[in-house]
Amino acid sequence: MLGFANRLVRVALLLLLLPLAWSALAMPVVPPGTGAQDAIAHLQLLEDPSAALTLAQAQQAFADGKFTSTAGSKDALALGFTRSAFWLRLELANAAPEAARQMLDVVNARISYVTLYAPGPDGRYVETATGGDMPFATRAHENRNFVFPLQVPARSSLTLYLRVQSTIGLIVPVRLWAQPDFEHYVRHDYMVQAMYFGVALAMALFNLMLFVALRDRAYALYVCFVAFSVLALGQKTGMASEFLWPQHLTWTNPNYYMATSWGLVCFMAFMRSMLGTAQHLPRIDLGLRAGMVLHGLLPVLYWTMVQSVARLTIWMFVVSCVLLLGVVAWCMVRRMRAAYFFGGAFAVLMAGSLMTLLRALGILPTNVLTVDGLQAGSTLEMLLLAFALADRYNQLRQDKLKAQSDLVLAKQKLVETLQTSERDLAQRVDERTQQLQALNERLEALSMVDGLTGIANRRQFDQELHKAWARLERLGQPLALVMLDVDMFKRYNDHYGHQAGDECLRKVAQAMASVGRTTDVVARYGGEEFVMVAPASDGPSALLLAQRACQAVQALGAEHAQSPFGVVTVSCGAACVVPGPGHTPQDLLRQADAALYQAKSQGRNQAVLAGF
Ligand code: GH3
Ligand code: MG
Ligand code: MG
Repeated sequence: MLGFANRLVRVALLLLLLPLAWSALAMPVVPPGTGAQDAIAHLQLLEDPSAALTLAQAQQAFADGKFTSTAGSKDALALGFTRSAFWLRLELANAAPEAARQMLDVVNARISYVTLYAPGPDGRYVETATGGDMPFATRAHENRNFVFPLQVPARSSLTLYLRVQSTIGLIVPVRLWAQPDFEHYVRHDYMVQAMYFGVALAMALFNLMLFVALRDRAYALYVCFVAFSVLALGQKTGMASEFLWPQHLTWTNPNYYMATSWGLVCFMAFMRSMLGTAQHLPRIDLGLRAGMVLHGLLPVLYWTMVQSVARLTIWMFVVSCVLLLGVVAWCMVRRMRAAYFFGGAFAVLMAGSLMTLLRALGILPTNVLTVDGLQAGSTLEMLLLAFALADRYNQLRQDKLKAQSDLVLAKQKLVETLQTSERDLAQRVDERTQQLQALNERLEALSMVDGLTGIANRRQFDQELHKAWARLERLGQPLALVMLDVDMFKRYNDHYGHQAGDECLRKVAQAMASVGRTTDVVARYGGEEFVMVAPASDGPSALLLAQRACQAVQALGAEHAQSPFGVVTVSCGAACVVPGPGHTPQDLLRQADAALYQAKSQGRNQAVLAGF
């Protein structure tokens, strides 16, 4: 009975003391099917400012009670920008009757050094040293983050020491998984990463091809921007170390900052090209160029003193992003089309990156949005910016089409104007030609007609005489010519005046025209002398014509007080010849003139036929 009571007390004591034997902070192993469990609340922390403590010294420090509890922390230890190393102590308790396969997951690929000390099967601690500034090959388990597989024996506990140290801000999210859950999660996680990098790669290649085809600088800048974004995110997520250079020692953080800075340089150059800031906003353009120079040179600092400039760098990124956002907002206010795309792209990227930055500064907790948000934001941003490029292409094409149609219209107008003026010109030339023809005809007529009497003038007489001469020479017929002179006309003029003299000459001309045949030509020979050409008339006909002329003038009855006849009279000299080689028209004229002279000297108012 006593024995039984003793055993009962012992079991009760054991039951009471068992939890005490494990630390009150001991973390129970995670059973399969429950997902990841944050280990933060179960961690104990020791800062090692010298970064020189050994495991034994850390264990001693624990025994001395120098570790502090982190129970107050959320899901990640935000230890700030420090050069200290930190020791984390985690005790895992497995109450189950079988061993538990667990995965310790340190979810930040940019911690420079991560070393786990875990007891091996013989109870001695085994060191696994890895980190972002170590080759990927040092990882205990192939994963983009730092993952350590653990075997927690049945009904026992396992005490782990995790040493972390970083050249930049130190954030340590620690999670524990049951192995099957972890395997499941990893497949999903890598699919998300592959999607992001796949989209980015496709966008980069596609726009590279567009650049080759279109030779537009904006496409090349976009491709560079995407390339640096991919490099930066590749560093941040640990994908670059795992897949690009797994065997080589890399410095994740300087690489990450450099890719980010140079990505910003490309982004600013892209923005300048798309928004045309050099042309439209010269001051902002100057700022952008200054930003490009600054971020272009900053990597020198990252590679020489990343620890000193880490905090400054984060703020520099924040300030740069805010300033760029300001530029975009300003351009949006000015209704610049491309700015809307930048605005949208910025909004999604900023949402992602600000969450990441705020997480880095310990303001936001670690969760899906703050960890993978940047990938989603970056993907959307790349898509929106590619869309901006497409829109720009479309805009340029529309501008070109409009310019072309304007040109065609202008050409049409020009052609129409030319045609109209050509028609006008042709019409005017026609009118002028007609006017000139009419004028010429008038001139021709005028040059052939005597202005005072309206009968043929001396010119026409000469032409007609020669024509008749040639014709009658061919025909062998005679040609008669009568020459008239108004008698005592000087006296008439003196007595009646010159005007009356002119009137008298007109009447004489009409009287003469009435006596001849229609074929006869009556012309004013000059002054008060007239001639008549009568083709095919022999000597007697010519004399008869001359006499009829004398009678016709006298019959006018025009008063001439100074003449012995009392009226105006004429004297006529007639001549006739058959045109031939022996004679000339001048001979005929001379004969008629001589006959006229004879008529004058015989007493005037009579006709005389010249004898050949
Ligand atoms: P004759 O009987 O000998 O012919 O005497 P005449 O006075 O006619 O002779 P003369 O040849 O000396 O005079 C001709 C005059 O005719 C001189 C001139 O004043 C006049 N006369 C010549 N042409 C014109 C003209 O166009 N109009 C007028 N009104 N007179 C003219
Ligand atoms: Mg005369
Ligand atoms: Mg006379």
